[in-house]
Amino acid sequence: MRLISVVVPCYNEEEVLPMFYEEIVKVTDGMKKEHSDVDFEFLFINDGSKDRTLQIFRELADKDKRVRYISFSRNFGKESGMYAGLKNCRGDFVVVMDADLQHPPAFLPQMYNYVKDGEYDCATTRRVSRTGESKVRSWFARKFYKIMNKISDTEIVDGAQDFRFMTRQMVDAILDMSEYNRFSKGIFSWVGFKVKYMPYENVERPAGTSSWSFWGLFRYSLEGIMAFSTFPLAISIFCGILCLAVALIFFIIALIVTIFTYYSASLFYILSAILAVGGVQLGCIGIMGQYIAKTYLEVKKRPIYITGETDEDYRRKKAADKSGG
Ligand code: UDP
Ligand code: MG
Repeated sequence: MRLISVVVPCYNEEEVLPMFYEEIVKVTDGMKKEHSDVDFEFLFINDGSKDRTLQIFRELADKDKRVRYISFSRNFGKESGMYAGLKNCRGDFVVVMDADLQHPPAFLPQMYNYVKDGEYDCATTRRVSRTGESKVRSWFARKFYKIMNKISDTEIVDGAQDFRFMTRQMVDAILDMSEYNRFSKGIFSWVGFKVKYMPYENVERPAGTSSWSFWGLFRYSLEGIMAFSTFPLAISIFCGILCLAVALIFFIIALIVTIFTYYSASLFYILSAILAVGGVQLGCIGIMGQYIAKTYLEVKKRPIYITGETDEDYRRKKAADKSGG
């Protein structure tokens, strides 16, 4: 039997949860009919909801053995919810999805087909439209992806989402990244593996409200930049070099004026000296920044490499194929 865990972080989702449960049961029952060897568990995370979310979990757990839940002592944020889900699920395959039906369960059968035979390690959706979102918000989102991909080595696909169907191997790799400040979009991409992006049109929430404010998203994007790039720490080096260059230009102007004219160039000398001192200071701060950047990356204790396949996996798979067919 192959167990598929469905991990669902929830924060104040009493309105959509019954709809979500009904939908996910419908889809997974369909999958069970098609593939006789799959089983499901639904792992809900209550991220400190203030409404009836936890009561609904209890009711679902009463009537359905496959339902498990973890309830946080307070709101820790969706990233923590996803981490708790990945850490505690038992599946050979794991799906992470939102409770608000913006990640349509109807995608699951197709996603499973991509990952079940090892063709891909992860299937995910990619929004190709941002309907139902304000213009300002989409503009900022597009700019964020552009900047992020310029200054970070980790590529983050525009429109990529946290709706992921993954193999156990990929989930274990994600859990190996034990950093505290988690930015999942970056982590999913950092671990690598073969990922299938399925384009889809944005859908709006059937009920409830999004818990993201504009400022919340803005802070989250800064978090993302800080977690996956140390470029901001290098900015002061560039400023320092610029100051030194301008200081040099002022100094040359002052020299020319002194040599070839009768005017006094003292103002240029003073400006040049001030800029030179400032430039050296900024440069030194930048150099310290580089050491801090290295320390920062060490402290995260990210794995040095992640294995995709070894000869052992290959032989085991071949043996299994032989005995199976
Ligand atoms: N969520 C969570 N903790 C939070 C905020 C959100 O677990 O602090 C969950 C929420 O219940 C939903 C998912 O994360 O299942 C996405 O949240 P939302 O729909 O508010 O975000 P959006 O779709 O607008 O990006
Ligand atoms: Mg949503």
